[in-house]
Amino acid sequence: MDSRTVGILGGGQLGRMLVEAANRLNVKTIILDAPNSPAKQISNSTEHINGSFTNPDDIKELAKKCDVLTIEIEHIDVETLKELRMINPNLKIYPSPETIEIIQDKYIQKEHLIKNGLKVATSQVIKTPNVDSLMKIGQEYGYPFVLKSRKFAYDGRGNFIVKSKDDIPAALRSLKDRTLYAEKWAPFVKELAVMIVRTIDGRVFSYPVVETIHQNSICHLCYVPARVPDSIQLKAKLMAENTIKSFPSCGIFGVEMFYLENGEILINEVAPRPHNSGHFSIDACVTSQFEAHIRAILDLPIPKNFGNLTTTNTNAIMLNVLGASEKNGELLTCERALATPGASVYLYGKESRPNRKVGHINIISSSMIECGRKLEYIMGTTDEQFK
Ligand code: ATP
Ligand code: MG
Ligand code: MG
Repeated sequence: MDSRTVGILGGGQLGRMLVEAANRLNVKTIILDAPNSPAKQISNSTEHINGSFTNPDDIKELAKKCDVLTIEIEHIDVETLKELRMINPNLKIYPSPETIEIIQDKYIQKEHLIKNGLKVATSQVIKTPNVDSLMKIGQEYGYPFVLKSRKFAYDGRGNFIVKSKDDIPAALRSLKDRTLYAEKWAPFVKELAVMIVRTIDGRVFSYPVVETIHQNSICHLCYVPARVPDSIQLKAKLMAENTIKSFPSCGIFGVEMFYLENGEILINEVAPRPHNSGHFSIDACVTSQFEAHIRAILDLPIPKNFGNLTTTNTNAIMLNVLGASEKNGELLTCERALATPGASVYLYGKESRPNRKVGHINIISSSMIECGRKLEYIMGTTDEQFK
């Protein structure tokens, strides 16, 4: 489809699914990450680079072999990307280094969102993290509040929910040596997420609104469409589109949101890459989030309705497969999914470790009730199999 080579910084599961989408279009990809990372496992090439997306030399080596660079993780070395753009103006980098830079520091990201008129939870930088400064936050915000690492956060690793003043010493220990900010608790009734693709010429298109359910700050389930009133879906979609319009960039983005009891929606955070809450799109949408990203960064056609559900009555539940306490114990869940009509299993080629994301399952049906019954069987809460 395109003779240009795409370099991907990061070879985890998101990279792996990007490679799958690229392969179907005959688009060549080169991965920078550790040997045998999930994306490399499915792409037989001697050109992949063994190294790190935080190492300038490794990134430069990747750039030499590519026409377009992209990311599957935001915790990369931005300065090197900026330098590369100066050295080689023909090298395309999507999303732009400036966008990655804003997003990778969650506090700067918040300031950017506020500046662009988007609502977020109240927060403040913690310059000197100690018991006194956090006690002051507790008095100002009330409990619980969330202590957050500004950088390198994922799956809640980097967050500490401070439920009372007694939690403060543990919070400080858990996030020591990191730059921090504190965030007011968002009393949400639901969490929502919207995938948005932004084209090179700045147009934005959205996927359906997703309801995300987290357990221990890790995404557990996604329901699509989100079980909220149509007016809230529309509001979430418009907010997500406006959010992504504020970033000078191109490619797929995930926008996480809190839907509050009073009907208000706050933006939680933005991911400048494919996102866990978009995995349903592989089976439920006209075009998956991964293919959408490849198309966007190569300026290939993206028809208007590509993000739509495949039919008007398509419903989906996505279940994340986390490593069980007993190694590979989670494969039982996957086996039950294989025995369920309308369920698809995606495993990432990662070693099973407790609570590690090792795969996901998409359940598709013409009704959400049916999706729910299939989910119960897959999760083992009922032995009644859905034929
Ligand atoms: P990700 O893996 O999505 O990048 P992360 O490590 O950056 O996650 P957050 O998105 O900040 O973490 O938080 C993870 C989860 O913790 C949220 O999805 C939400 O369930 C809960 N959470 C975070 N901040 C707040 C808040 N201010 N109020 C209520 N819940 C919150
Ligand atoms: Mg995050
Ligand atoms: Mg998050």
